[in-house]
This record gives sequence, structure tokens and C-alpha cells, in this order.
Amino acid sequence: MTIETILPIPNIQDAKRILCIQPHYDDNDMAVAGTLSLLAKNGAELFYLTVTDDLMGIENVSLSDEEATELLKRDQFAAAKIVGVKEQCWLGYPDAGEYDYFAVRRDLLKYIRMLQPDFVFTVDPWLTYEGHRDHIQTGLATAEAVMFAGLIKIASSDPKIDSAYEQHEIKGIAFYHTREPNYISDISSAWETKIASVRCYEAQFSPTSMNNRVALLDAKSKQVAAGQSFQRGEPLKVLHTSALHVGI
Ligand SMILES: [Zn+2]
Repeated sequence: MTIETILPIPNIQDAKRILCIQPHYDDNDMAVAGTLSLLAKNGAELFYLTVTDDLMGIENVSLSDEEATELLKRDQFAAAKIVGVKEQCWLGYPDAGEYDYFAVRRDLLKYIRMLQPDFVFTVDPWLTYEGHRDHIQTGLATAEAVMFAGLIKIASSDPKIDSAYEQHEIKGIAFYHTREPNYISDISSAWETKIASVRCYEAQFSPTSMNNRVALLDAKSKQVAAGQSFQRGEPLKVLHTSALHVGI
């Protein structure tokens, strides 16, 4: 028996209910809108959960927090329509601010137990040179919440959800924004969809900075597909949930 036989890389094409946990409003779509839109086309239900309020990166700083939030949600819903997202949820922790890691983990446990996804997508918290703490905290809290979902002695933020929870299987976790991918997703046929969704995020980008971002995504999608049989890719680290502890 090899490790690959015992713990095969889960096949994201099998996903039926995918919970995509992101630090900021646009992270899921910037990183994996191509992959997610193809999975949605394949029949998977997509749920987006945004951890922070994302208010620090807003272009027009004269807006009130309420006005800015309205724009952020407008953009996110427009992108969701393109990608095929079923539901959006928000936790509202302060963007780039001070908040408790364990409070986030409790909220993530709640959503995982409530929505019962078979796959979870999130940022790779072990990305080398990642300087944004929201990304590190979100990725790590997600990994822990995926590992601990079945351990009901570890409380979520909602005792009612915990007492109603029946064990379910999470087949895998997929980390995006990773430098150590073990799976390159072919997004050649979904490239236009991805860019259309990315361009919805107007509240956070000037037209020039959006064009720069799209150029970067364009180059990256081709770079990661080098040596593959397709033109454009999105890199993922896909792990069995049992591979999230002690490195086996
Ligand atoms: Zn982000």
C-alpha cells in the first residue's frame, strides 16, 4: 500500500456542495472563479463565506461604511451571478484589524456544521511571503474547522447548530493562492467567465489597477499551465482532510 492509495488526492470534480471561505470579498473569484464556475456548471452548489468586512481597500474613501458595504455587496452579487454562486454569507470581522482567531474558528465551525459541504476551498495560510494576516488567519482557521467539524466537544459559536449536527463527510480541502500546488485546474474554457466576474469588483479597483490585475491574472494563468495539455490554469493544493495534521 502506498500513501497515495490510502490517502488519494480528492477529486474536486466529485464535489456537490462547496463552501468557499475567503478573507475578503473578491479572493475566491480572483483565485478560482474559473474552477468554481466549471464545478457549478457540473452541478455543484457554491456557498461563499467572507470573513472580514473588507472596508480598508475601498477606492472611494469618502464613503460611509454602510455605503461602502452596499457597493461591495453589489459587486459580489454581480460576480456571483456570473460564477453561479448559490448563497453568500458574511462574518464582518474588521478588515486588517484586531480580532480573535478562535472567534473566527468558532464561526467557521458553525457554518461547516450548518451547510455540511463535501468540499471546502480557502486561501493557503502557508503561502510563503504572505503578508496579510487576514489571509493567514482565515486559511488556518478554515483548516482547523474542517479537521474539527466532527469533534462536537469543540464548540462552534452556535450551540443549537452543534446539538443538531449529525456527522458528515468532508471529502477534501482545496487551498488556492498556493505556491505548492498538486493540482492544476484547466480553466481554458472558463477564462472569459473568470475575468467577467473579476471585473465586477469595481469598488476596490480603479480602472487602471483593474486592468493591471487582469494582466497579472492572464500571465499567471498561462504560467501555471506550462507543460500541461491546456492553455490556462488555476493552481490548487487539494488535500484529504486526514492530511491536515502531522504531515502524513
Ligand atoms: Zn484578500
